[in-house]
Amino acid sequence: MAGVYLHVPFCKQACYYCDFHFSVNTSRKAELVKAMVHELELQVDYLDHEPIETIYLGGGTPSLLTDNELEALLNTINKHYKIVSAAEVTLEANPDDLGPEKLKELAAVGVNRLSIGVQSFDNTILKYLNRVHSAQEATQCIESAYHTGFSNLSIDIMFGLPGQHVAGLRNDLTKAIQLNPPHISVYSLTIEDKTVFGKWAAQGKLKVEGEAEAARQFEVVMDTLQAHGYEQYEISNYAKPGFESRHNSSYWQRKKYLGIGPSAHSYNGETRQFNIRNNHQYVQSIAAGQVPFEREELTRENKINEYIFTSLRTSNGCSLTVLKQDYNFDLNTQARKSLAQMIKNNLIVLKNETLQLTRAGKLVADQLAVEFFAPITST
Ligand code: SF4
Repeated sequence: MAGVYLHVPFCKQACYYCDFHFSVNTSRKAELVKAMVHELELQVDYLDHEPIETIYLGGGTPSLLTDNELEALLNTINKHYKIVSAAEVTLEANPDDLGPEKLKELAAVGVNRLSIGVQSFDNTILKYLNRVHSAQEATQCIESAYHTGFSNLSIDIMFGLPGQHVAGLRNDLTKAIQLNPPHISVYSLTIEDKTVFGKWAAQGKLKVEGEAEAARQFEVVMDTLQAHGYEQYEISNYAKPGFESRHNSSYWQRKKYLGIGPSAHSYNGETRQFNIRNNHQYVQSIAAGQVPFEREELTRENKINEYIFTSLRTSNGCSLTVLKQDYNFDLNTQARKSLAQMIKNNLIVLKNETLQLTRAGKLVADQLAVEFFAPITST
């Protein structure tokens, strides 16, 4: 089973923290969607004709697509790929796009899961982030989505924001929980150099709360959502039983996926491909029949380290048996000292040959994973 990711690189305006690939000039959207349709045709063999069980429209802002554009993309997948019945079809959306008519159109073309970028229910914070929507629009669109029949939806919330404190975060979480979405993704703000926030930070104009405050807020997120029946099945993702994102889970389960559109990534078990991050060059290259990508061959060490990094972040944990059987890597021998120390410090537990992060371990997940990495030897 495999997945398809479609990157829609357009937004109405640039959020000040965002490092994704997108353009705010939508005048060439139709032309780009046409190129994506063509790329789907060119890449038809990439997944070895494995059945598609998840389709994910991300971006950018895929809710800016017209129903005809969306239909063209989904029809092309239907025509050239084998899609399983009950496939998960997710669309990322911004609240201001999701009026009642739009929601009906999305349901009619086959979208069955929405991932809504709420980020905060505080209008002052939304304005500071340069989000295009208000808190009221977020609440309304979630209620309208239920009314239209979308029972499978996720909302994104952020923490560690400039000027945000625990009381404000609690308020956001309370409002989110009251709306009862079956899935909530909660991300900590990271400041990326090329964003507006990155520039402000370099000029000393951005007051970012320290790591201790971000860690405190992360603990509030974990405790609050778990107390309300959300399982933290991955560091940043919380779901009611049965509502885990099948698409994102497939990344962590090392399933193959095909990424379509500028900046999209693909993975087939042996290589990763990265499409060019430039809309104009992408369109030109596709028109000439060439998918513009760079390819990275994955070494045994790359595969081991990717598995450790992603699996440790999940509630299923990192299986020492998988490492031995699939990669001939004995983590117990390779990192015996680090592992013993982490267990002693209550950062990790080892149960049934599987490593799982404790609550304290989740606060430093990425640093812990690095301790277990297989050394990369230069070739
Ligand atoms: S809407 Fe999403 S993709 Fe677009 S700028 Fe904002 S965060 Fe980035």
